[in-house]
Amino acid sequence: MPSPPQRLSQTVRKPQNKRLLASIHDVGPGSELAVLQLVDLLERRLGGPNFAMLVVPDHWGRHPLKADRAFQARLRAWSDRGIEMFVHGWFHKDMTEHADAAARFKAKHMTAGEGEFLGLDDATALARMLEGKALVEDVIGRESAGFIAPAWLYGEGARTALRKADFALCEDHWRVWDASTDAVLAKGPVITWASRSTMRTASSLAFAGLARAALGVLSTVRIAVHPGDVTKTSLLDSIDATLKRFAVTHRPARYAELRANP
Ligand SMILES: [Zn+2]
Repeated sequence: MPSPPQRLSQTVRKPQNKRLLASIHDVGPGSELAVLQLVDLLERRLGGPNFAMLVVPDHWGRHPLKADRAFQARLRAWSDRGIEMFVHGWFHKDMTEHADAAARFKAKHMTAGEGEFLGLDDATALARMLEGKALVEDVIGRESAGFIAPAWLYGEGARTALRKADFALCEDHWRVWDASTDAVLAKGPVITWASRSTMRTASSLAFAGLARAALGVLSTVRIAVHPGDVTKTSLLDSIDATLKRFAVTHRPARYAELRANP
């Protein structure tokens, strides 16, 4: 015989079947202060550590995680609290010299040089993925949540390497997929902000406004923030408004749930 409390809990849970996946990109020793600020903002709106971090093993070749024991301890503590940790490239920046002019143009002008995995051959991509996975998993003492390429950009080499690197999950700007089977687990554009030019900032604010009005229909909403976002009040306000809006209709969730219960 169904009891009233069960009926009540079903009523309450229904809209909460929609998921909100939030993440902080570009986490590493060089971005620590900005990340701490973003952690505060996300925890306040999401009611706890219900979000993911994307860890860069050696941002621009200048901030090696391997050499920073204090930051390793901080990362492990975040992971112990339930924050999912993705491997996010190795250098983040595209450090290779592109032989052909078209690839050089694309890398430089379309990604501000941040598309590290766009031009890598599969052997190099696989080596960096495996090294990043081993480092991050050693630091946090558990399996990483998956791999996400810098700027969400994957070249052919990166896509081939992903099938061999034994990551659980992967995402780009438009979808989340199972890295071992290529099965798509969530669809819809990620809501994110840009701080590096006035024009990009303006268009990202406009998109976030549209997203707040239109993307409530999605069963999984993704929100991604970056350390640079803390440099502009307009971005922090927009991020806060967006988190607040979706936390009403979408339950702050973990990426891992997508595999367990697509
Ligand atoms: Zn990034």
